[in-house]
Amino acid sequence: MRKNNEPILEAKDLTKIYSSGIINKEYTVAVNNASFELYPGKVTSLVGESGSGKTTIGRLILKLTEPNSGKILFKEEDITDIEGRSSKKDYYRQIQGVFQDPFSSFNPLFKINRVFDMVFREFELEAENKEELISQSLQEVNLNPERILDKYPHQLSGGQLQRLLIARALLLDVDILVADEIISMLDASTRMGVLNLLVDICRDKGLAVLFITHDLNLGYYLSDDTLILHEGNLVERGATTKVYENPRHPYTQMLFESVPDIEEKWDRSEEFIPEQITEVVEEFYQNNREEGYKEVEENHYVLMSLPDNIG
Ligand code: ADP
Ligand code: MG
Repeated sequence: MRKNNEPILEAKDLTKIYSSGIINKEYTVAVNNASFELYPGKVTSLVGESGSGKTTIGRLILKLTEPNSGKILFKEEDITDIEGRSSKKDYYRQIQGVFQDPFSSFNPLFKINRVFDMVFREFELEAENKEELISQSLQEVNLNPERILDKYPHQLSGGQLQRLLIARALLLDVDILVADEIISMLDASTRMGVLNLLVDICRDKGLAVLFITHDLNLGYYLSDDTLILHEGNLVERGATTKVYENPRHPYTQMLFESVPDIEEKWDRSEEFIPEQITEVVEEFYQNNREEGYKEVEENHYVLMSLPDNIG
């Protein structure tokens, strides 16, 4: 039995470099040496601006893309090398993702009951009480099975579809749920419902949740642990209260200074120009040449310098 204080997933030095262009190749370091852990029953938020590498990290964990280097340990086993349909299926029985655009996760031609039926076939789940289990998982996400199962995806709202994806994950009884910007498409009235649901399920079922967001306030509101991503680097990570109450990396500090009140739209660009941030961060790294990651207090780590700045 896994204890709650043992990570269910450990990412170690994950690096992802995209190359684009055929003749003149251009390389983008989307994720640079990222290390972090996910724990059962805990929400970990991954916070960063658009383009900072959040989705790439989610996709790496979900094995939708492969890292150039580094590894991912799931239940202490390296999953970066697993190949083939059956081992991947085995992995997806334990980890699922919910994405920004829930419509894209559904076949528009299939009614919801067919979608759920297929879960059983796809993952070779054995159950005599299939319908009961489906019903139960829908109720757990506050959806009425009778009203939902006979519908096509386009007859449902974004919030309902996202809840269906969560229900699907519950049916599979997954260990990890990756939620990538899941509320951007929801209106304010359904937003809190979906989020609170996510937290409740995480606590009740001991699920590890990676909550990807560009919204600092949401991160604070929801998560136990926080990962702050800046241009592919995890610049600060640790217990949410510590990171938010005592930010130590200049990027995090600038980020927090520019956050307006809850519910107000956050637009960092109004406050700081990117060049200014880069300059301040560079200077910080230069001044801390040989330190790398430093535990500034218990369960609170700060990137003091980049590996290639050292020396
Ligand atoms: P975020 O989710 O934080 O907005 P992403 O992980 O989507 O960030 O992207 C990180 C960086 O990687 C960006 O510069 C983006 O343009 C680049 N990128 C993402 N996906 C690809 C891809 N498939 N090919 C090339 N570059 C990509
Ligand atoms: Mg993204």
